[in-house]
Amino acid sequence: MRCPFCHSENTRVVDSRESDEGETVRRRRACQDCDERYTTYERIELRLPQVVKSDGTRERFDENKLRDGFSIALQKRPINAERVENALQRLLRRFSFSGHDEINSVDIGEAVMAELRDLDEVAYVRFASVYRKFQDLDEFNDLVQRLREVLPDDASEQNKASLSLISGTHKKDHSS
Ligand SMILES: [Zn+2]
Repeated sequence: MRCPFCHSENTRVVDSRESDEGETVRRRRACQDCDERYTTYERIELRLPQVVKSDGTRERFDENKLRDGFSIALQKRPINAERVENALQRLLRRFSFSGHDEINSVDIGEAVMAELRDLDEVAYVRFASVYRKFQDLDEFNDLVQRLREVLPDDASEQNKASLSLISGTHKKDHSS
């Protein structure tokens, strides 16, 4: 990797260490021509599958939508941001290394619910109730939009919404 200061190819690695639980390698490099030092990072490239919607159309996997789903469900919950990020990364890795080029939209929702169940029961109930109620929408992106609508920013409003959602789940029999 060329030196960013003088563009020399004559560089060497002076230090190398793993971070993020071994998923990133950080290398300290020194240029042997100009003596400048710089850092490079090496990480595994995630190849996320295409998302197959219920009508059979495909769309690009949107990592931000996944992130939004988590953050809306976890609004104002006392959950460490690092734990949330770890859960998110775990999902992304699982989807990336599943060996499949495609994933069904519903499977994303199911996987998110499983992670939320481990993280926080309230967030899980919020997400699951919206998920079940609106499952006919069947699209993860629509689901995130619904979550945003039924879980307003204000905490008291939010509790009301959660309660009405929980009772709302009984209206529709879900049997798949
Ligand atoms: Zn240099």
